[in-house]
Amino acid sequence: LPREFSQALPVLLELEANGYEAYFVGGSVRDHLIGRPINDVDIATSALPEEVKSIFKDTVDIGIDHGTVLVLTGSGRFEVTTFRTEAGYQDFRRPDSVDFVRSLEEDLQRRDFTINSMAMDARGRIKDPFGGRGDLHDKKIRTVGLPDERFSEDALRMMRGIRFVAQLGFHMEDETREAIVRHSSLMSHIAVERKTMEFEKILASVNKHLAFDLLIRTRLYRELPMLKEYGSVMEAMRENPAVRSLSKDQSWLFLLFHVMDGGFLKSWRLPKKEIKEREKERESLKKRLEGDWSPLLLYKTGRNGVVNVESVASCISGSPRSEVLDRYDELPIHSVKDIEATGSEFIKWKGKPGGPWVKEEIAKIEAAILNGELPNEKASIKKWVKTCNRS
Ligand code: ATP
Ligand code: MG
Repeated sequence: LPREFSQALPVLLELEANGYEAYFVGGSVRDHLIGRPINDVDIATSALPEEVKSIFKDTVDIGIDHGTVLVLTGSGRFEVTTFRTEAGYQDFRRPDSVDFVRSLEEDLQRRDFTINSMAMDARGRIKDPFGGRGDLHDKKIRTVGLPDERFSEDALRMMRGIRFVAQLGFHMEDETREAIVRHSSLMSHIAVERKTMEFEKILASVNKHLAFDLLIRTRLYRELPMLKEYGSVMEAMRENPAVRSLSKDQSWLFLLFHVMDGGFLKSWRLPKKEIKEREKERESLKKRLEGDWSPLLLYKTGRNGVVNVESVASCISGSPRSEVLDRYDELPIHSVKDIEATGSEFIKWKGKPGGPWVKEEIAKIEAAILNGELPNEKASIKKWVKTCNRS
């Protein structure tokens, strides 16, 4: 048994010793069966939350209404959730009520896809009432039960299904895919943040082209922030083979470059810091595509930015420039701190009180050093500053 499971095994055994059923469930069982690294192990049990709390010394209520108790042990912290069913989904995103049940099968039935609806007991025996193992073998994403029902209960599942296609390199079963076409508009009930979480997992996968193929075929992309009019960009994400190796951030840059709307990343509620980085990279990307990297542009873009811009540029123009990073590394300075003189020295040399001019002066010095007009040495910089060289 992989370490992630053996560490959690005492929790299963303790629940069993108290007369309850307990299983590993969901993503961990799926990933274990296909030999993928395991994220977090989730445990499902017939014990009610209060019963779980009475068995373990150290617990935290993290979602007691939904039946989830966090159990803290010497070897880790594990989410233990009471078997439950869900009912009512009037808002297309979450159940009106949750009922605790004593049967594993009912719990597995509420889960989204067959590959996510398997359980494994302490002895490694698999419970698989919906054919998840067969679908894993066939690399198939298929809902548990009727896809039309499952997607109108919770519209995010459509996006999750497409995300699993990208992460696992699977395909989507026809009926499941066709149901997305019918229900895509229900995505309007889903919070942007939840769409973003799924979309970012797609952007981070090597098989993202499979997800974009599905987003196009199901027209689901039309329900994503600001992408409604950008079928052609979706096609580029599907068809350009170099897109596959783009990271999440590089994919955002690729999209931002094509969508050409300042509000794009904001509409996905990305963190401000990331939006700033991507927008700066977009400016550099435009210049890189119009001409080439100048030393100053490399400097301003920063090492990580250069990597991102160059990856996207070579997707767009098809000619990777592998020597660009070496050119970056060979720049005489990589930040203001590398300049062999400080702001207070400039003030002294100029004999002028500090003010906004210092920043401008530094920018000129940076440019002069990068263009090779000024050696990065204190004496040369001093002379340059004193003689007001403005070449
Ligand atoms: P990941 O590797 O991304 O964590 P996961 O399958 O573990 O994938 P989670 O979001 O952690 O996904 O959910 C854990 C399990 O809960 C899933 O495997 C699935 O059985 C169930 N589940 C999660 N979200 C839903 C949903 N929206 N509808 C139905 N079942 C869900
Ligand atoms: Mg998980």
